Amino acid sequence: MADNKKQRSGSFLGPILIYFFLALLIFISISQLNRTNVLEINYTDLMNLINNDFIISIQIDVSGLVQVKAKNGQLFQCYAPTLVFDQTFVRALANDGIKIEYTKSSAGSWWITLLIYVLPIVILMFFWFSMLKRTTGGEGIPGGNYRKSPAKKYDAKKTRVTFKDVAGIDEIKDELMDIVNFLKDPKGFSALGARIPKGILLAGPPGTGKTLIARAVAGEANVPFYFMSGSDFVELFVGVGAARVRDLFREAKANSPAIIFIDELDAVGRQRGAGLGGGHDEREQTLNALLVEMDGFDPREGIVVMAATNRPDVLDKALLRPGRFDKKIYIDVPDLKAREEIIKVHLRGKRIAPDIDVKSLARSTPGFVGADIENMVNEAALLAARENRDFITNEDFQEAIERIIVGPARKSRKISEKERKIVTYHELGHAILGYLLPYTYPVHKITIIPRGQAALGYTMQLPTEDRFLITEPELKDQIVSLLGGRAAEEIVFNEITTGASNDLKRATELVREMVTQLGMSEKIGPIAWGEEVGEIFLGRELTRMKNFSQKTAQEIDSEIKSYILSSYEKAKKILSNNRERMDLLAIYLYNKEEISGKEFSEMMEMSLEELKVYVMNDEEVNVKSLTISYA
Ligand code: ADP
Ligand code: MG
Ligand code: ZN
Repeated sequence: MADNKKQRSGSFLGPILIYFFLALLIFISISQLNRTNVLEINYTDLMNLINNDFIISIQIDVSGLVQVKAKNGQLFQCYAPTLVFDQTFVRALANDGIKIEYTKSSAGSWWITLLIYVLPIVILMFFWFSMLKRTTGGEGIPGGNYRKSPAKKYDAKKTRVTFKDVAGIDEIKDELMDIVNFLKDPKGFSALGARIPKGILLAGPPGTGKTLIARAVAGEANVPFYFMSGSDFVELFVGVGAARVRDLFREAKANSPAIIFIDELDAVGRQRGAGLGGGHDEREQTLNALLVEMDGFDPREGIVVMAATNRPDVLDKALLRPGRFDKKIYIDVPDLKAREEIIKVHLRGKRIAPDIDVKSLARSTPGFVGADIENMVNEAALLAARENRDFITNEDFQEAIERIIVGPARKSRKISEKERKIVTYHELGHAILGYLLPYTYPVHKITIIPRGQAALGYTMQLPTEDRFLITEPELKDQIVSLLGGRAAEEIVFNEITTGASNDLKRATELVREMVTQLGMSEKIGPIAWGEEVGEIFLGRELTRMKNFSQKTAQEIDSEIKSYILSSYEKAKKILSNNRERMDLLAIYLYNKEEISGKEFSEMMEMSLEELKVYVMNDEEVNVKSLTISYA
């Protein structure tokens, strides 16, 4: 994205004002120079000069300033308004052969006059232009390109992105192939009678490749790509956004066939009348201009408008009507297979160790979108470069993945011994329950190396496959293992720390979801309570409108509470029953700082005796720390 041409020029008034003041400065200094050899005299002296025949010329200004030149070349000046219209006096001077000159404005203070007269005009003009922009959307400014669209035009030849750079969304590429063919030959395509959508709306979570696919369409068809973000339209001056929309379309039409891409369409395209402060605001004007432009061109002109949003739910319905964005494409978070393909695209041209397994990389990145994957590969390449390695190794990738999920490891962070022991048991509480409960995701890794801002340690549990449906037993077990961290702290140290607050929050959210939305509570029944408002993508906080009575609310609350309490008891019971194993594991984790998922499940399968030998015989385990559990 480095070489795009920015087509915006700043306000044209700025330079004019600068020139004006520069010119003023020059004139002032020139007039000051002149004035150095002009002597100010009084009226009497002036009359003496004239009557004694000392002067050769006289300059009479209408303002009353009289300047005379003496025979020796010296200039004198005097304020003598009566002389201006004294015809007999002037005629007498003329008879004496003195050169007479009338001027219109005073030479001495002309620049002050200029200031007095011109400055207010300039200021007025400035305001007048801004007013003009407000009312006419900028069309009233001749030659001004303040209103010009800040559209970025990608040079198709230099930064060409093609379908090869986009992976994992083959169906979408197929759908867009029509558009590509159309852009390659708009006339021929239309001659066949095929109708092409005017506008294509790409909807989907951030980072899923909406911008990328739009650029790829332009790249495939080899046509210019006019890119503008919805927030570029929303400007300080009312009407500027609308003018920019018109400019954007004008420019694209002049270079058709072309693609216009409007990112963050929701910034302009929000439902009208939804904002505060009345209807006639900037955003609405911009939206109207967009609608007008979209109605106003013939697809045969070879223009295709694409737009992207991650909030299709808030868009004004008018945008989605036929003849506008009449084709909607939803791009979802990539699944396992798609991630594998996206990883392959980003590994292209990178030097990677031969043992890198793309499939397993894809498996350890559930929930990653394309942007995360790009990030991960870059991060891994950086790590390898920092270590001066020839290839990116598997460890680099694993570290990169963790960095993206929880932030970079901070081995230097100082944590007291006591804290580390607590963290050790906390993480083991999650992990042991994660292993023992039948419906949880397998443990991928346990670590007590602090990462990111908050996590002092963490247990990574990953699903073996992408899941769209989660069963009730799975949710139940997940809640129990979430509470395992705190349960372990309570069992071992008999005190409660703040480290579990995030776990508790997540567990409570899950239970609330089960009770109020998923109908998984017998007492409350299979009813969805509360109406969802706002966010459509899961994972964000949901806002709900209350559509139930106070009594139901109480029932829901008490149901959630008893559900959490019984899950917590279950977690404590299982961990207590495995106390000895937990202590051995704690010694091991405390010393090693990290246990891989594979090793952990092996250790869980050993008998207690075997485990004891395994832990004690490890070189890195410090026997002194055996007293860990009595801290
Ligand atoms: P969006 O516009 O949906 O927020 P972008 O198109 O800006 O996402 O994607 C950001 C980056 O993520 C892209 O530049 C690309 O490197 C990577 N990316 C996203 N989706 C894909 C994909 N399907 N295939 C390959 N790379 C992708
Ligand atoms: Mg984008
Ligand atoms: Zn925890």
